[in-house]
Amino acid sequence: MNTRVKCKKCEKIAVVRVPYAKLNLCSEHYEEFFERKMLKTIERYRLLRGVEKVLVALSGGKDSLVLLRVLSKYKSVLGVEITGVHIDLGLGEYSEESRRVVLESCRDLGLECYIISLKELLDYTLLELLEKTKRPPCSLCGLLKRYILNTAAIEWNFNAVATGHHLDDILVYRLREMLIGQRESEVLKLAPITRGVQGLYATRIRPLYEVYEWEIKVYSELCKIKHLEKTCPFKYRDEISASIAEMLNKIENKAPGFKIALARRLAKTSLRETPLQQATPCQYCNMPSSSGICALCKLTLKTHGKPMGLILREKLRNIKVNYTENSTAS
Ligand code: SF4
Ligand code: ZN
Ligand code: ZN
Repeated sequence: MNTRVKCKKCEKIAVVRVPYAKLNLCSEHYEEFFERKMLKTIERYRLLRGVEKVLVALSGGKDSLVLLRVLSKYKSVLGVEITGVHIDLGLGEYSEESRRVVLESCRDLGLECYIISLKELLDYTLLELLEKTKRPPCSLCGLLKRYILNTAAIEWNFNAVATGHHLDDILVYRLREMLIGQRESEVLKLAPITRGVQGLYATRIRPLYEVYEWEIKVYSELCKIKHLEKTCPFKYRDEISASIAEMLNKIENKAPGFKIALARRLAKTSLRETPLQQATPCQYCNMPSSSGICALCKLTLKTHGKPMGLILREKLRNIKVNYTENSTAS
């Protein structure tokens, strides 16, 4: 950006240009702008209505750690308790570093954090389960993470699980599902909020629903948020998703703010009805399923020879927080 342009709000030199808002901002005012935007999203979609305790899913990447920082900073204003949770997938060095950065971040913010080890829950790491099932990594990982996060929130009495999905990823995912998705219900999963069902589904909230990926990156750099630089060894973007992202970026460049307007339109359809109401309890573990047996019990009937849902629930119940203000992170 032009080094002589002044901040719209003060006399300092601007360091960020926000095209869709036609604003040039200094570091301090960008931070304020970003945080307000997130708080407005929470208000617009009533993400915290009736919520007292929020479990924030932390991968160790910048999206979830930026989310954690802002929620933690405004927790009194929002009237909520914030706790972190991280699932250690057992992916070698990547998982070790993720775990370390998550624990450090929670400790620095004075927040409690749960660490869930997949190996301890299911006796296998993600790598070992991939070997056994031959499923695509992200599909298997997604199934496990969805089950574990939801069950953990129910077992630990949290009202909502917050995730760091941002505008760019959500739009690509939603458009991809519309073009080639199999089931309509899948499309509804990335709404700003998916309201839960008592004892079965925890409410899912996505406070970064209207936040661009670049905005998170800039905020994370300006606020010096420690996060994992490495990406998951399985992360990859297929050609269709890459083309959708490219098309959206082209339109955004010509019409700044287009992505936010599109996300708002999509939210209107997805907020009307969620597929959660149609879920029935799994016959083995009582967690949600569409056909009487949940995805985890189905999977573990093959990998373990028995449904592991109930055992996993029991293990989750016994997990203790890893960090509190009065103790040291392990
Ligand atoms: Fe899981 Fe890695 Fe795929 Fe993310 S990229 S869903 S962490 S396997
Ligand atoms: Zn300023
Ligand atoms: Zn089950």
